[in-house]
Amino acid sequence: MKNLLGDADLIAHFLNAQGEHLKGRIQGGKRINRGFGYEVGDQLEIEYSIQEGQDFIKLSHHQGLRIQSSPRGYRAMLALSLAMELISRMAQRGLAEGGLFDLLQQNLTFTWDREHWASNLITLIWRLLTLSGVQIRYQACLSCGQPSFIGSLEEPKFRKSAYRLIPTEGGIQCERCAGAGNWGAPMIKLLWLLDQGQNLAEVPEELLYSMIRDLLDYLPQHYQFTLNSLPLLARELGWQHH
Ligand SMILES: [Zn+2]
Repeated sequence: MKNLLGDADLIAHFLNAQGEHLKGRIQGGKRINRGFGYEVGDQLEIEYSIQEGQDFIKLSHHQGLRIQSSPRGYRAMLALSLAMELISRMAQRGLAEGGLFDLLQQNLTFTWDREHWASNLITLIWRLLTLSGVQIRYQACLSCGQPSFIGSLEEPKFRKSAYRLIPTEGGIQCERCAGAGNWGAPMIKLLWLLDQGQNLAEVPEELLYSMIRDLLDYLPQHYQFTLNSLPLLARELGWQHH
């Protein structure tokens, strides 16, 4: 009976430097005075042991190394939770192991606040896609091969078309091939900005939200998982179920 989870116990998820996902039971973690006062995304040093046949590691020591401290607001908090869940899902599935820890560390340098959460989240999703080898080929129509831009990829001018994302193919189709889609030139440009690692400060919020929504639809479908923290963000942003 000793191993049953108590009311005040917490289950904490960790990602270690090797990109492995660990779970720990923190006894009394919810108690205010003795609580496990860390937040999602904090970097900790932990000492633990693994016992055979047990799902949970046994923590013998923990200490915060880098703690998130900026005020966030509700949306930023939801976005950060979602980002951490995404990373954890990918880790559980053994995807992109080598790069996940680095990504998590980089994430600690992001400022998750009202102003930056959407660009942080989309950047993170894009890096996860790249790390796991999933591509969205936005440079040309999958069917007819017509480029989505004129000029060079360094200085592209994006064609006005209404593209459609074809999730199963990891690319886009133009409106002549697939009928009018919901991705205009600004969405294609946004993918280009992400791909080039460019600053997203000029991108309108609504465009970021649309892309986040489409990518969050795409990635879990591709890997067949669901994101428990997505419904809260979806509700907050007024996304309808589709
Ligand atoms: Zn086409």
